[in-house]
Amino acid sequence: MSSRMPEFIDPWRLAEQGGTIEGEIPLARMSRMDGLLENRRGNVVFSLGFSRDDKRRPRIHGRVQAGLALTCQRCLGSLELPVDAQVELAVIEVSAEANRLPEECDPILADDGRVRLLDLLQDELLLAIPQVPMHESDRCRMIEHQADTDNGLPSPQEGNRQRPHPFAVLAGYRTDTEH
Ligand SMILES: [Zn+2]
Repeated sequence: MSSRMPEFIDPWRLAEQGGTIEGEIPLARMSRMDGLLENRRGNVVFSLGFSRDDKRRPRIHGRVQAGLALTCQRCLGSLELPVDAQVELAVIEVSAEANRLPEECDPILADDGRVRLLDLLQDELLLAIPQVPMHESDRCRMIEHQADTDNGLPSPQEGNRQRPHPFAVLAGYRTDTEH
């Protein structure tokens, strides 16, 4: 399947067969990601399984993985976001049906009885991108810069003079008794 990726899939047929689709698609083909990413290098790796729910609706479950090159909105540096999205979708034919789905799955609307694979994968990746992407605070240049100036310790005028730290007292006591 990975050598010849279908553009459209028929979820009803795949659900009937209990089929699976897996493979890799270059991020470069995902035009809706343009403008959100610093670059579209690398691949999206996916694995999707198909089944039917008790309403005979096709369900798609699986994983979508990719490394996305985002921009940190705090320091404007590059931010590599590893995405490992769990897919749990119910295929619907009319949008009104979305209200009747169980909570654990998201709707995906099939057009003319088929779903465009690229759209499904892009939806999952777009959902995985935070609204304001930022480095973890210990990795962000902006945060590091602040930490350098104050060392993360309370500044001297902020209490050291008034009250010694309780553990400091304890440490002093131990030293005195051991020697
Ligand atoms: Zn940053």
